[in-house]
Amino acid sequence: MEKYLSQLNEAQLAPTIQKDGPMIVIAGAGSGKTRVLTYRIAYLMSQGIDPFNILSLTFTNKAAREMKERIAQIVGASEAKNLWMGTFHSVFAKILRIEADRLGYPSNFTIYDAQDSDRLIASIIKEMNLDKDVYKYKQIRSRISSYKNSLITVKAYFNNPELIEADKAARRPRMGDIYKNYVERCFKAGAMDFDDLLLKTNELLTRFPDVLAKYQDRFRYILVDEYQDTNHSQYLIVRALSDRFQNICVVGDDAQSIYAFRGANINNILNFQKDYDDVKLFRLEQNYRSTKNIVNAANSIIDKNQTKLEKVVWTANDDGPKIKVNRLMTDGDEGRYVASSIFENKMNQQLKNSDFAILYRTNAQSRAMEDALRKRGIEYRIYGGLSFYQRKEIKDVLSYLRLVINPSDEEALKRVINFPARGIGQTTIDRLVVAANGYNRSIFEVIQNLDKVDIKINSGTKGKLQDFATMIESFQVMNQTANAFELAEHVTKTSGLIREFNKDATPEGVARMENIEELLNGMKDFVEEQKELADTTGSLAEFLEDVALATDLDNDKGDDDRVALMTIHLAKGLEFPYVYIVGMEEDLFPSAMSMNTRSELEEERRLFYVALTRAEKQAYLTYTLSRYRWGKLIDAEPSRFIEEIDDEYLEVLTPVNDPRQNPMLSADIFGDVEPSPNTIRFKKPLRKKMEKKQPPKFVPPPKLKPVSKTTGNPANLFDGKLTVGNIVAHIRFGKGEVLKIEGAGADVKAEINFENGGVKKLLLRFAKLEVI
Ligand code: ATP
Ligand code: MG
Repeated sequence: MEKYLSQLNEAQLAPTIQKDGPMIVIAGAGSGKTRVLTYRIAYLMSQGIDPFNILSLTFTNKAAREMKERIAQIVGASEAKNLWMGTFHSVFAKILRIEADRLGYPSNFTIYDAQDSDRLIASIIKEMNLDKDVYKYKQIRSRISSYKNSLITVKAYFNNPELIEADKAARRPRMGDIYKNYVERCFKAGAMDFDDLLLKTNELLTRFPDVLAKYQDRFRYILVDEYQDTNHSQYLIVRALSDRFQNICVVGDDAQSIYAFRGANINNILNFQKDYDDVKLFRLEQNYRSTKNIVNAANSIIDKNQTKLEKVVWTANDDGPKIKVNRLMTDGDEGRYVASSIFENKMNQQLKNSDFAILYRTNAQSRAMEDALRKRGIEYRIYGGLSFYQRKEIKDVLSYLRLVINPSDEEALKRVINFPARGIGQTTIDRLVVAANGYNRSIFEVIQNLDKVDIKINSGTKGKLQDFATMIESFQVMNQTANAFELAEHVTKTSGLIREFNKDATPEGVARMENIEELLNGMKDFVEEQKELADTTGSLAEFLEDVALATDLDNDKGDDDRVALMTIHLAKGLEFPYVYIVGMEEDLFPSAMSMNTRSELEEERRLFYVALTRAEKQAYLTYTLSRYRWGKLIDAEPSRFIEEIDDEYLEVLTPVNDPRQNPMLSADIFGDVEPSPNTIRFKKPLRKKMEKKQPPKFVPPPKLKPVSKTTGNPANLFDGKLTVGNIVAHIRFGKGEVLKIEGAGADVKAEINFENGGVKKLLLRFAKLEVI
């Protein structure tokens, strides 16, 4: 037997060496599902299967990279290079580029991110003269996304009276027209949004039998990790591709299905055995990740769900310490407690920062954690939130680069045609859009043919537009010989971006320059890495593809020693020795918005199961007695999920230095002291253990004023240009409305009601705000 196979137990070995036919591995967390997939690929290759014939689909690109590295250790790097591995989106984007012309797309199509889609939808709503309070672009985008993920094309939409009626009933009778417009505009811009990557793949495979046959023949062995979270569109792709050889291996855990809100369909895993003939079902029962206390506690939680496949999960690992439950007064105290506990654990047990993770239900909860970690001098990294590539200055650079690759890219063009300012006003841009729509051409083509088109623009402005086009064309010429880094360096200088950002000597301006530098460094690394790992040149097109599909997790090279902060959704599949799950409160976790039906509540419970099972050695749960939500301090109650864990696995602590019991202790001192190990049981709240009957308390989000103008320009806030009513974006707190401005000069402060953090007073000199 091959040596590496001895690193599997018997139950894992069976699916690993089951070479052919459809098979499913259903097993609980930490039982080695991902390990089985990895070793199975190595095994297939050792059996002479060509790596070009193996397709492996993972939840993140990071997971794919790690798998590839492990396989490379077993079978050698040169062979592993040729495996098809990645997320659904990244793998099928590659295939779509190869086959683009079948669908009438250029192979250099742009991938629009959520922000690009939002902007396009907002501008369509404006062009159609619709009321933007009724037609909210974010809602429209999520409707369009769910149509696409259910394969409802524009044509299918208009053929479906039920959908039309539903939108009428929702007082959005023009929904179908917006959808149609949106699809046409994306097509004209040579752009696909995220959902298109799956929708168009389905279209490709159904409309062109020869293409289907080609990829069926190529992907003779297909493997899918985290199968429980596939959506309908992904399901159909997998079915179509595996139809001929039926060598399909999926692994998953129904208890970890947590993306129903994004269209994931748990039935995909439940019905797998009906979809194929002679499916071999494998179960893994031994957990290698966590201590007995953690495994048993997690089992006791998931037991409360009615809809589930019965599974056994046990571990031969040590009992380990019990799960610590801690009650704190406020989120500030919670942050200080977590930071000091990490500090102590590090000191006492010689641990690294990267041994710790802090998991939360909502991104907004990171702020208190960050503050406390910073005060303690503990390095951390936040995953999720506004990703690096979505920052304004980075998107500006990327927009120029996107135009080099695909000048039809309308959203990129609108973003930079007058940034840095070159005297091309909004009216001109509006006229260009109208002309482009009229001629059914891209805006860039209209600019290239200004003398031939019917458009009211004065000759001075025409000159400026032509200069812009000439500049982009000159970048395109350079792109034929330069690599991504060389080109980007040239573009940032020539376009005037560097000069523009250099003008701004405020801390925000300096930070922007640093970010651009970081982007350029990243591109340099990318060029080097591509040469080594993938045998390609590191072209700009490759770089942009990588960026468009990067999730925040993917940027993590795993080599820095930081505490990981992320939402539970992002933590799926990962593991950490020490895990803190914070904000264990009713209405927060389970979320107030997900308690209306049993199935929503069960999804929240699965989310908690995922959170707890990330921990290897020790898990901590914390909750507070009061918390700011949407700007109001509200009383909080401990989460029902704490009560649902069998008592024997818990150690419930109440800090003896609770400030209410000892007024001598200030909050600061409190934060520096680890709560005494003397445990005091807290009295369980007098309410029914199981699901609450009364409707949840839901504090509605503040009404934001509609976005008045989407200039995207950086607000020079120091100048005091910010006014009451402006909508701004903050890197951590998200969107917010300016309520009040006070102070003068360098001390101007704004009171802002943020979606994710409630009302905050910020010193504009330091606050990284952007008017949107
Ligand atoms: P999840 O459901 O969270 O995705 P999983 O079922 O995919 O978990 P893995 O991540 O593959 O589980 O394995 C969990 C941990 O246990 C990993 O650190 C893995 O290396 C380790 N492991 C799995 N099987 C074995 C084994 N036979 N011997 C030793 N360690 C193992
Ligand atoms: Mg896994």
